[in-house]
Amino acid sequence: MTPLESPDIFQTALTNWFDAVAKPYPWRKTTDPWHILVSEIMLQQTQVATVLNKNFFTNFIQKFPTPAIMAKATEQEILSAWEGLGYYRRVRNLQKAAIAICEDHGGNFPTDYLEILDLPGIGKYTAGAVSSFAYNKPQPIVDANVARIFSRLFNYQERVDTSKAQKQLWEWAEQLLSHDNPRAYNSALMELGQQTCSNKAPKCELCVIKTFCTAIEPESLPHKKAAKKAVLVEEFALFCIDDDKRILLQQEASAERRAGMWKLPLREFAQTESLTLLSKSSYAITHHKVTLRVFQCPPQTLPPVEQSQENWHNLSDLTELPMPSPFRKVLNQLLKDHF
Ligand code: SF4
Repeated sequence: MTPLESPDIFQTALTNWFDAVAKPYPWRKTTDPWHILVSEIMLQQTQVATVLNKNFFTNFIQKFPTPAIMAKATEQEILSAWEGLGYYRRVRNLQKAAIAICEDHGGNFPTDYLEILDLPGIGKYTAGAVSSFAYNKPQPIVDANVARIFSRLFNYQERVDTSKAQKQLWEWAEQLLSHDNPRAYNSALMELGQQTCSNKAPKCELCVIKTFCTAIEPESLPHKKAAKKAVLVEEFALFCIDDDKRILLQQEASAERRAGMWKLPLREFAQTESLTLLSKSSYAITHHKVTLRVFQCPPQTLPPVEQSQENWHNLSDLTELPMPSPFRKVLNQLLKDHF
């Protein structure tokens, strides 16, 4: 039996299971559409565990409880509140959405699906998630979890990252959507994708919709374009502190991914050759694998740089400055070791 033959039984199996096992995530305890939008944007490209571990969601909505407050925040304030989550374009878009809500909707979050979809940075998935989770409106959602479940349910052998496949997935989402309780149904799909129909090791024996599933080798699905090979990058940074306990930092240019954020100043390899190496660490960003080396640099030996926005900052002000996590981590350790 395919789920299309008995969508009611399929939906009931999912929602009953969800009632019994739903995790008490903080964004499930609210129906405030702004808070739900924040959680959805935060959970794009960041795992649930990471968002929960450091209370990112709770802290963020305490700081920006309404679109009006977010709309008025400075760039440094929004970047600081997002620090540790990465992909800072998301928080910039969130602020653009907050501004649009204030300017076009008098500060009230729109209730209409198309108006939500019209907000800057909001796609079909996010608009459907906010509509169903906040307003319990019957809007389908397809994200990576749902794509994985549907590709397995229907034993779909084509790549899911093509427009043809996306059309098919959204069609299934529409056909199987519960109109009685879309909030619980969409939440259940997400939960199943996280708990049971997981990426590498689906727990089919525990799955409440296994009778509908036609997957032959579920762990091989969904098919996708092969991931790009990581590009290796080397960064050479300076740890430069003057006698007044001020540290030299560099601000990312406006065209860069981390625009507005501060980091240890970077130099060419040749300019750091004669300096003492203090630390070496690695981090990954998109498809880059970066090796970051930090060198001790007394101010009088500071290698010049042609174009860069560099400033001296009091060490006591460091927590106020938004900084990419890999740099924050290294800097905290160096300050601990040397001061
Ligand atoms: S039976 Fe297995 S593959 Fe099919 S939906 Fe359930 S967990 Fe996924």
